[in-house]
Amino acid sequence: MWKKKPYCTKCNKDTLSINFDLFCPYCGSIQNIDPIEGPSKNEIKITNMWSFNSFLPSLKKVYSLSEGNTPVLHVNNLSSLKGLKLKLEFRNPTGSFRDRASSLIASYLYSSSILKLVCSSSGSLSISLSAYSALAGLELTNIVPSNLELSKIEQMKVYGSKVVEHGSTVEEAIERGRKLQERGVFFASSDNILTVEGQKTIGLEIAHSFETIENIIIPKGSGSLFYSIYRGFKDALASGWIEQIPSFFAVSLKHEDLDFYVESLKIPTPLTLSQKINEILLESKGKEIEIEGEKMIDQALLLAKKEGLFIEPASASVVVAAKQLLEKEGINIDSTIALLSGSGLNALNIFASKLRGIRKAVWGLSEKSTTKFEILDLISQKKANHGYAIWKALGKRKSLQSIYQHLNELEEKNLVSSKVRGKNKKYYSITRKGIDAYSKMRELIDFL
Ligand SMILES: [Zn+2]
Repeated sequence: MWKKKPYCTKCNKDTLSINFDLFCPYCGSIQNIDPIEGPSKNEIKITNMWSFNSFLPSLKKVYSLSEGNTPVLHVNNLSSLKGLKLKLEFRNPTGSFRDRASSLIASYLYSSSILKLVCSSSGSLSISLSAYSALAGLELTNIVPSNLELSKIEQMKVYGSKVVEHGSTVEEAIERGRKLQERGVFFASSDNILTVEGQKTIGLEIAHSFETIENIIIPKGSGSLFYSIYRGFKDALASGWIEQIPSFFAVSLKHEDLDFYVESLKIPTPLTLSQKINEILLESKGKEIEIEGEKMIDQALLLAKKEGLFIEPASASVVVAAKQLLEKEGINIDSTIALLSGSGLNALNIFASKLRGIRKAVWGLSEKSTTKFEILDLISQKKANHGYAIWKALGKRKSLQSIYQHLNELEEKNLVSSKVRGKNKKYYSITRKGIDAYSKMRELIDFL
């Protein structure tokens, strides 16, 4: 099946008979696949990622939703970045580059008569694999952390896969998946050899379309996407499509921003993969670029407003990095490509919080309930206590009339009470019932 078999560079054992983990089950080292020499460039016409099947394991049956062959656009209106190439990986079937991994995993498992699998991820891999498992008739169980957004869990369920909650962080969910892997279950995660091999088609695609790309900018995340693209370029190099690999730039968040709510940059990179990434940065004369979380969201909004591209904040990090590289290192923007890995639709909570100026918006809560909660918040924190002040404090987003309406409704429910002072001006304070309701809601939102 394999064109070149993965092997452990340290202990050189055959590991595939045990599992498909990117890390050797005996010694924990990263597994290697030697570069594959494929056909010449003009023998390949790209329709989807399977146009590169000579670089992928040979399979009995392929399950595809036409993933890959994602468009490359140039920045148009953001004048400082004009000409920067953007690879739109969020245009894949379920909205992220993970579809390349899922298509290979589902096809490989079906072809090997393995019909059950488990997956742990921060969301996009699980969603993607749910779609492909549905297509291939595989039984997928997703292990997810208990605080994962409902919108992501619902997507998995829509495709008919099982969802089991475990732990409160992605790491804990992954740990659980690894335990099941020890018992012989097929475990899909970002650190799986098939995941890497599927995702490497991004590198192959870029190398096939552009002869001279000097720089490539990729969100670092758990490191698996970064490593995958490098693998693709190595195959392209071995096949004579390019003369050298581009400089690789990995984008990560500044340490103080690590608890910021952007999960795909928050996952820690396993140590062995970290070492591999450092080797790649050194070999390709690239480097790691740290950016601030807040800048990333602003940039994502700017891309939506100026370029019509709605991408998740982690994806926008590469554009922030491109700007830094242009200003500080004077890179050639025309031969730089940045990877937009995921859709903004998968991160609506983050945008909702930013646009409303509140710490954390709960997606699915109606506009009406959100406003009532914000009003209770203002009154209980003694930040505003009459209609006009509340209206101003909410940024005059709604009509003054609607604020009075909300206050009346809150008073009818005995959540606030009012006293008339001066010229018929009503001053509000929160009631005991109001405090109860507010703190329960607060607790719920913090818990979420
Ligand atoms: Zn080993």
